[in-house]
Amino acid sequence: MSNARPQHAALTQFPVQDDCLQIGGISLTRLAQRVGATPFYAYDREAMTQRVALLRRHLPEQVHLHYAMKANPMPAVVQHMAGLVDGIDVASGNELRVALDAGMKPELISFAGPGKSDTELSCAIASGIVINLESEAEMERVARIGAGLGVQPKVAVRVNPDFELKSSGMKMGGGPKQFGVDAERVPGMLRRIGELQLDFHGFHIFSGSQNLKAASIQEAHEKTFALAIRLAADAPRPVRLLNIGGGFGVPYFPGEERLDVAAIGENLKRLLPDVQRQLPEANVVIELGRYFVAEAGVYVARVVDRKVSRGQVFLVTDGGLHHHLSASGNFGQVIRKNYPVVIGNRVQGQEREVVSVVGPLCTPLDLLADQMEMARADVGDLVVVFQSGAYGMTASPSAFLSHPAALEVLV
Ligand SMILES: *Cc1c(COP(=O)(O)O)cnc(C)c1O
Repeated sequence: MSNARPQHAALTQFPVQDDCLQIGGISLTRLAQRVGATPFYAYDREAMTQRVALLRRHLPEQVHLHYAMKANPMPAVVQHMAGLVDGIDVASGNELRVALDAGMKPELISFAGPGKSDTELSCAIASGIVINLESEAEMERVARIGAGLGVQPKVAVRVNPDFELKSSGMKMGGGPKQFGVDAERVPGMLRRIGELQLDFHGFHIFSGSQNLKAASIQEAHEKTFALAIRLAADAPRPVRLLNIGGGFGVPYFPGEERLDVAAIGENLKRLLPDVQRQLPEANVVIELGRYFVAEAGVYVARVVDRKVSRGQVFLVTDGGLHHHLSASGNFGQVIRKNYPVVIGNRVQGQEREVVSVVGPLCTPLDLLADQMEMARADVGDLVVVFQSGAYGMTASPSAFLSHPAALEVLV
């Protein structure tokens, strides 16, 4: 067996005992028995706790951390995160209910996203959370609904910045975008917020997701602060909330390196004094989804068939893209690459081989690993996909082919 095989960062996150992966201190075999069925997602609560602690160590203490719960909206996960972070960002009315159920104070919840319905806005205003306005029309609707309820809506303006986040996996700001209000239109909107007597809190400036380059995040922070300070000149009252987005990435593929959060923290320490001088009432917020939860989660499927086709080995499992679209490579990947995958109940194994792991769907897209080296596996063995705690189950087309949904456990 070669020792030269490159170790993916993910393979060191969970301990291995007697060649079996341990999740939350439980061997995977036992955990599968405890869950009672495959496939399932398992999330390690201690890994999430550690991740928040890591950020608290590296970022200035004035920076507030919010959990963007669409990355993993499982209520038990949101409840756990609510006890660790300073706020929650929701993206729908249903997410808002889960965040409130988790005990997060309304004023520490914010609601972003285009196309909010009147019902969602009404619930949000009645709850007393901060609505991140995505357009002028949404601002007018918020004012009208607030007047109808007799409640003054709390609002922030989501700004589509006049710069792009470099090397971001998913760009969500700069150029023409469906998100936020173009920076150049914001001054006019701020005047209108004053006329409408909305309770103005500040700005939300989110420029992208899945970024592994500290330097480009640092540059975005610098430009974001400059933009916020410039826009604040037209605000109807002092900025109390300055959400500078997040976009911190995690390594999924061979060769990707962990984000240097220490460098990001140093840069923020350098930038914050000026921000605090110019916007003395502003709470600076970083909102993260993936970075908090992605590496804390695994997806586990059982091998139901092993077949050889023209010399290539296929492990057919009971899980696939209907539960885990992103691991199949069909959620935002341009060129398909394998997520880190192992046989969880025989991590090294006696023998190793190159196999493709596929699911039960009738499409060649249903691929969890394409010709990857792993321990030789048989029917009954457990395939584990790492980096699966974010954008997993709820980002997948679970109704496709009408197979049962995956289970989820927090360990
Ligand atoms: C999706 C989203 C996030 C979370 O992005 P991650 O890459 O998971 O950290 C944060 N803010 C907004 C506005 C989002 O839409």
